[in-house]
Amino acid sequence: MVKTVICPLCRSNLKKEKKYFVCEGCAEKYEARQGRLILWKEKFEDEGLSAIKKDLAFTKAYAEALSSTPEEKIFSENEEFFERERGRSLAAKMVDEKALNTFINLSGSLRGFRVLDVGIGGGKEAQWLFEKGVLEIVGVDISEELLSRAQERLKGKNISFIVANAERLPFPDKSFDLVFFMGALHHFYDPQKALKEACRVGKRVGLVGEPSSMGPLKIFLDLIGWGTEYGGLKTKRFSPQKIEQFFKERNFNVLTKTNFIWFPFSLFSRFKNNLAFLTTYFNFLKILDKIMGMLGHNLTVYAFSK
Ligand SMILES: [Zn+2]
Repeated sequence: MVKTVICPLCRSNLKKEKKYFVCEGCAEKYEARQGRLILWKEKFEDEGLSAIKKDLAFTKAYAEALSSTPEEKIFSENEEFFERERGRSLAAKMVDEKALNTFINLSGSLRGFRVLDVGIGGGKEAQWLFEKGVLEIVGVDISEELLSRAQERLKGKNISFIVANAERLPFPDKSFDLVFFMGALHHFYDPQKALKEACRVGKRVGLVGEPSSMGPLKIFLDLIGWGTEYGGLKTKRFSPQKIEQFFKERNFNVLTKTNFIWFPFSLFSRFKNNLAFLTTYFNFLKILDKIMGMLGHNLTVYAFSK
């Protein structure tokens, strides 16, 4: 594992010294604990630290509170309702399958790939990547709580876990076949910086489940003040045009697709005890998905270096 990582501060190599990994350039010391290599420290951050801390506190509470994912908690609490409405398959289809299938349609085979999963979280999508034949995954997250969930879920797989900031990736240039983000980028303090890093360390970059700034319902939610905050932090979204321009400037070809994928758990969880509302809402979603499909709300992007 250690030969594939570099110092996130100065990008020099790390060498093992007793229980530490020491940077050959700036002498910063890093450690590994509980199967995770810790390549992030609070002192590395400047103006972003308070936002990162807020995000970490939220992530910790989130990891503790939920059985594994928010949807699973909501589903388990309303099992009878979902059985009746067959809502579970609808929701899964809308949120996960639809976005991931869109991605695989754009990217083609991932067989044999070495993948960096940025913001791996609980590891659900890493599991999907393995099902698609990827050879190896390096999972990065700033939250140790979430990484420990991913470690549990992905036991025995060809995967390593690193605590690192997406805006300062501890890897050499072009060391991954694919840098993969699922629903992560818009939560970062500086998503542009994270994307620049992705273009540096990856031959290809995949973005799945990125809410577009152009989605008509998102604009409406912004107006009424819902849908922009997550754990007390503002999310940051791109338009399809801006994403394409970004990759083209960095000499990447880019394929983009917009879907109407809209299953706002924040809204949903507000009404999770109101089954009459949920029934109406689910029926509304089914119709909405058909009518609004072409307007675009959710971005799937596949960029590959020229
Ligand atoms: Zn260093």
